[in-house]
Amino acid sequence: MNLPPTDLYGLTLGELRALLAGWGLNPIHAALVWKRLYLGLSGSVDGAGELPAAVRARLLAHTRVGVLPVAAEAESSDGFTRKYLLGLGDGQRIEAVLMRFAGRVTACVSSQAGCAMGCVFCATGQMGYRRHLTAAEIVAQVVHVARAQGAGEGGGRVRNVVFMGMGEPLHNYDAVMRASDILRDPAGLALSAERITLSTVGVAPAIRRMADEARPIHLAVSLHAATQEEREALVPAARKWPLDELMDACRHFSSTLRRRIFFEWTLIDGRNDTEGHARAVGRLVGGLPAQVNLIPLNPTAGYGGLPSRSEAARRFQRILSEEFGLPSTVRQRRGIDIAAGCGQLATPRAGPA
Ligand code: SF4
Repeated sequence: MNLPPTDLYGLTLGELRALLAGWGLNPIHAALVWKRLYLGLSGSVDGAGELPAAVRARLLAHTRVGVLPVAAEAESSDGFTRKYLLGLGDGQRIEAVLMRFAGRVTACVSSQAGCAMGCVFCATGQMGYRRHLTAAEIVAQVVHVARAQGAGEGGGRVRNVVFMGMGEPLHNYDAVMRASDILRDPAGLALSAERITLSTVGVAPAIRRMADEARPIHLAVSLHAATQEEREALVPAARKWPLDELMDACRHFSSTLRRRIFFEWTLIDGRNDTEGHARAVGRLVGGLPAQVNLIPLNPTAGYGGLPSRSEAARRFQRILSEEFGLPSTVRQRRGIDIAAGCGQLATPRAGPA
């Protein structure tokens, strides 16, 4: 069956109003549709008795609501993390993760099926690039997590969204920014920009673009190494956007938006966790308003490295703090038993659509 191409999850509220107006219908009804989709978390406009029959009929005939079917799901043994394998219309699959930390619920969403960046320790990078996701497919993941969390029944709301799932979000800039605008709409999911974080491997021109467009969401840059040579060995995309260019873009971002940048550093035992590495990070990002997030390596089938020991992580933090005044965190290891941790998301090759 051919579905209508317009997916309501991909429209801003203004675009939905314009769509209704273009059909000669009162655009005021867009607010009701929006409420149903994002407050009621209903995956359909069918049965929306509050909508005039003419509006409902047009929407049912000419649009769809791209709810992503769940192909599989798994919960971590501690109950804090739940991972969903979601199907896309063309047979591709992606993963999204619901994380419960004390007092907050976070949705970790994918921006692409697969990834072209090829970071050596990342399961998504190991599977290669398949395609960009649409804004609607990104929004649908957050709606799915919100529904799974029970927000519709008054359970804990999804308050944080991180673009840290499969894919490089800045390689799919327009769709990711459109999705973040839709997620932030106060009449819908109403996520605060303060609570949306985009993690990039360092697509320097897109970081500049975010600054020039004054995008309000947080930026996290996956650094992992502080010299060009070491970085290229872990993050092949560094050849395209060298470290100098990346740091220039970061300086432009923080001076334009006056905002702190998060730098992420996957800690790999014996590879990038020595005192010398900590000082190199301090020198590289010193002077920027920054926080360093240390992430002990998570296991993947295609990479043999081991996570740093906790003493190494503590030493790294101490050097950043005492010698460079840099705040840092060590990421809690959550969801590793269901391969839902950083760098662990991957899906089997898609079946026929
Ligand atoms: S770490 Fe991110 S950018 Fe690198 S391969 Fe994995 S998904 Fe892509």
